[in-house]
Amino acid sequence: MKYVINAVRILFLALFIFLVMTGRVRMWLIIFAASLAAALFSGRIYCGYVCPMNTLMIPTEWISKKLKLQKTVTPKWLSSGWLAWLALGASIAGMMFAKRALHRDVPVLLIWLAASVIITLRYRPAVFHNLICPFGVLQKIFGKNPVYSMRVQEQGCIGCRMCEKVCPSDAVAVRSEDRKAEINPALCLQCSNCSQVCPKNTIHYLGGKK
Ligand code: SF4
Ligand code: SF4
Repeated sequence: MKYVINAVRILFLALFIFLVMTGRVRMWLIIFAASLAAALFSGRIYCGYVCPMNTLMIPTEWISKKLKLQKTVTPKWLSSGWLAWLALGASIAGMMFAKRALHRDVPVLLIWLAASVIITLRYRPAVFHNLICPFGVLQKIFGKNPVYSMRVQEQGCIGCRMCEKVCPSDAVAVRSEDRKAEINPALCLQCSNCSQVCPKNTIHYLGGKK
């Protein structure tokens, strides 16, 4: 399963690179727009499988941990999430200004791709996914209550927190009151890391609420 998921990510990364090299990177924005509509039904699949930033952040995090660069604490000034909205507004305004006033395209996607890698060298991926990424802000809204999502079948959960440890976006947490894990679909990238490590095989991609 892990190999299939990584192969899908690499294929989409290759498509992204191809579009950049052939000057058609704007087509990626069409893919992104379609992914927002899809998120209503299937959750943030784009973030977990299609997004070139996430695909590059995975090896970047591995390098960061190996070099002991990663800080586990999230800076307080970032915690409210305002920066992601600012990033979204600045990206749209920058694109429109450059197009109208300078008759040029701003390589917004490439700028954010570089930022995601640099930030992930220092901070956990959840910091970029949840607090900085301008695309993630929109995915969060559209993927808040999808028909299908990764869900915990609570009766099987033993509260071991293995799922929490491998989640790149802090989307799963074990409740203190009953020691059962719960996934927040708005944050979930549908990556399946958690279901792969769950010793009770109690996390699945399911329709409905639980
Ligand atoms: S890994 Fe599985 S059993 Fe452990 S807390 Fe998460 S959902 Fe529950
Ligand atoms: S909750 Fe599971 S599927 Fe969702 S982002 Fe976290 S590890 Fe991935």
